[in-house]
Amino acid sequence: FRSILTHLGGTEAAHYARPGRRLLDTKNYYSYLKIAEGCDNECSFCAIPNMRGLQKSRSIDSLLEETERIAAKGIKELILISQDLTMYGWDLKSNGKKAPRIHNLIRELSLTDGIEWIRIMYAHPAHITNDLSATISEQSKVCNYLDMPVQHINDRILKSMQRSTSSAKIRRIISDLRQNTPDIALRTSIIVGYPNESEEEFQELYDFVEEIRFDRLGVFTYSHEETTSAGLMEDTVSKELKLERMDKIMLLQQEISEQKNKEMINEVYTVLIDEYKADSGISIGRTYKDAPEVDNIVVLKEKVEAGIFVDVKIISSAVYEVTGELSNYRPS
Ligand code: SF4
Repeated sequence: FRSILTHLGGTEAAHYARPGRRLLDTKNYYSYLKIAEGCDNECSFCAIPNMRGLQKSRSIDSLLEETERIAAKGIKELILISQDLTMYGWDLKSNGKKAPRIHNLIRELSLTDGIEWIRIMYAHPAHITNDLSATISEQSKVCNYLDMPVQHINDRILKSMQRSTSSAKIRRIISDLRQNTPDIALRTSIIVGYPNESEEEFQELYDFVEEIRFDRLGVFTYSHEETTSAGLMEDTVSKELKLERMDKIMLLQQEISEQKNKEMINEVYTVLIDEYKADSGISIGRTYKDAPEVDNIVVLKEKVEAGIFVDVKIISSAVYEVTGELSNYRPS
């Protein structure tokens, strides 16, 4: 997680934008690609726009150049990040032509030889378009995965959070995404204990998590950030109650995760191996459902070198991992 935060930092982004200067700081076969810096949204709880300024998207040419360079070094999985990935390109001028959008960028990046997976993180639900949904469904290199932080589901709180969306719209987007891509893995993050969050509003959030059954979910307790509009409100929910609400959601999500992992048993998944542990003789990898560092893992009791894609039959499961056996090598 620290690595993701580091990659979201402005200094790093400026560094990437200079051709020839990119240093690969992961020993892995995935790489983050920061496509824009800053954010045009005004979420009430977030200080990032004040710290980073308005969004500045990188050009498609610059991103293609960087992607080709890192693919030549053996990177197989490209993880697209920015503060709000769905707004990519709005700020780019293109000599009277239509400015490129995120789906245009993804389609161009997917032509890069050597890149086999493209993963989309930080998609604000207010700006997810049919074009983006179609790109996930149609482009074979784009993982059927979307990280879409909803933050809350109660309309009063969404409005106070200045999220420019509503409960109905979030539900409609999820329904459309699942209709277009039935096996899509959805990740989200939510905040509990936002100022004035009542018991009923928290219960609405809990029921939503239970109903939607996200594949992956992170939950955070609200805390005041300086320079934010929520920071001017009274922090009404006690620390104990925030933690209690977080625990309730986490316990619920554990049950959902355990159940979903059980459903994977006897199915075969393509797995990208991240690491072989010589001391224990096991290999660790991920399916398309899992981003590195924040999501689940696949454990294989066989030796497979990092960076190899293999087909794995899942034979057992736990809450945050599954175990499998090699079904087929798919050397790449
Ligand atoms: S939470 Fe995300 S989308 Fe909202 S202002 Fe902060 S960086 Fe932008």
